[in-house]
Amino acid sequence: AQVYDKSSPNSKKITFRDVAGLSEAKQEVEEIVDFLKNSNKYTGLGAKIPKGVLLVGPPGTGKTLLAKAVAGEADVPFFSISGSDFVEMFVGVGASRVRDLFHQAKEKYPCIIFIDEIDAVGRARGKNPIMGTNDERENTLNQLLTEMDGFGSNSGVIVLAATNRVDILDKALLRAGRFDRQINVELPELNDRKEIFAVHLQDIKTDSSVNMDFLARQSPGFSGADIANVCNEAALIAARNGKESVQKEDFTNAIDRIIGGLEKRSKVTT
Ligand code: ATP
Repeated sequence: AQVYDKSSPNSKKITFRDVAGLSEAKQEVEEIVDFLKNSNKYTGLGAKIPKGVLLVGPPGTGKTLLAKAVAGEADVPFFSISGSDFVEMFVGVGASRVRDLFHQAKEKYPCIIFIDEIDAVGRARGKNPIMGTNDERENTLNQLLTEMDGFGSNSGVIVLAATNRVDILDKALLRAGRFDRQINVELPELNDRKEIFAVHLQDIKTDSSVNMDFLARQSPGFSGADIANVCNEAALIAARNGKESVQKEDFTNAIDRIIGGLEKRSKVTT
């Protein structure tokens, strides 16, 4: 459940260059990079550096990518855990995982802790149990609150957490000194989609029929993750057909497939 990316030889460092679009969100997280790199600038003036920042937005919009890019840009370790890892966990395990994670992170400061899907543990107490028992989820949430309070604002640890349901989070999580900042990570507009295609086409052998403007116009409502998927799917289709490079029609076929998937997804949720 925990990743310590910096020490893993297989994980390439992610930077803001890997994150396309999201210019406002990027601007906001740049400040976090500066908190990590030049903390003295702030603490010297008596300022308290924020401890917790929520990245809020629909699935696949690049929240995890952005968190990794903050760690990459600041060149600090990245510890991560997902709220969904705690689902169906034995009694006491969730809380001790949280405790261990913070313990490890505090020894490696400055660093980032990333909690994906925080809503899985952080939904308001006493409602909609989604774990084995509601008590166990509450124990985990309480431990998280304790840990957030237990380290100082200027300890060099910044906790980023992702959610697409900020409305259901326990208000205790949003209190001052905990996750008191929010950064919105929205679905990409036309121009942003073009930039995301540009990032994901870098490693793909395309022929001259492929035009990013066209692809961006054909993919309204797609997330960054959907676009990454289209690029890979198009390459697979082209390869299956024995082509030497990926053509426009392979992309339109891939887009149709993803749209099919999106329609199914929205039927399930509505
Ligand atoms: P979830 O809420 O489902 O966890 P997320 O918002 O954390 O999603 P990521 O896991 O960061 O989304 O995105 C999945 C993948 O989609 C990324 O690894 C990347 O390949 C691609 N992607 C998403 N957004 C962008 C973006 N803005 N620029 C480039 N690639 C992107």
